[in-house]
Amino acid sequence: MKPGDVIISFSLALYSQWFFHKPTRCLFDAGEGVATMLGNKVFAIKHVFLSHGHEDHIAGISNMVNIRNLAYGEKEKPLVIHYPRHDRWVNALLEYIEKKQSGLLQYLLYAEPMDVGSEVDIEGTKRPTRVVAFEMQHVRGQLCLGYEIQQERSMIDPATGQHICCYHPIFFYTGDGSRAFHSPYGRLDMAVHEATFLGRDAHLAAEESNRHATVEMAVDWGAREDVKILILCHISDRYNVQEAIEAAVVAREKSGFRGDLYIAHCGDILPVPFANSPNL
Ligand SMILES: [Zn+2]
Repeated sequence: MKPGDVIISFSLALYSQWFFHKPTRCLFDAGEGVATMLGNKVFAIKHVFLSHGHEDHIAGISNMVNIRNLAYGEKEKPLVIHYPRHDRWVNALLEYIEKKQSGLLQYLLYAEPMDVGSEVDIEGTKRPTRVVAFEMQHVRGQLCLGYEIQQERSMIDPATGQHICCYHPIFFYTGDGSRAFHSPYGRLDMAVHEATFLGRDAHLAAEESNRHATVEMAVDWGAREDVKILILCHISDRYNVQEAIEAAVVAREKSGFRGDLYIAHCGDILPVPFANSPNL
């Protein structure tokens, strides 16, 4: 599996970030340009999961709500926006949307505050699927969330030989911040982890008012969790993408990460070559 099989995305720190997970039709964050890039795929989205209320993660939401109402497409499918409870900037944006669209929307729009551990069932998937919220440390004194998609799988219990059902983590999204959650359900199929800074600027990532991860922290996390496909994202525009790729190559060597490694940069998801690769 390659990221492009299941993901459409845009990611550049401070500018815009969003990840659309095609199999579940869930959108994670909704930075500027999301509706413009997705075009009529916005009509497929049933759930939006916002990580926190910074501009680069939410600026595309009001346009998307409006386009789903006015552009050519199926206008009656409901849309649910999930967001960290009490996030004042998301609340302010929802208030704007409510005032602007009052009495005009042709579809049902819900806003659903989420807490750490909140679960949302995703309909219309082949197997029972849910999204679970977890805490990220990003803005001081403010709840910021990451999300994991878990899907029910049947397997043979080695102890009894019986078929049992258990959840399997198919997709993981951190939003912004550090100290990502540990999945209790085994190896993640695919994880998107922010990596705003390079290790040489670790002091910027550690700033208490706005915590971030570095490329090295994110790859170390991926190695600890033994993630199958790790996508680094939210890279700062102070670096050119080649610098970030080179840092990821070194970080993989040091951490022993054995999965597939990528960097999401603007609209591309670029593979990180191995240290001895001629592509480097
Ligand atoms: Zn942020």
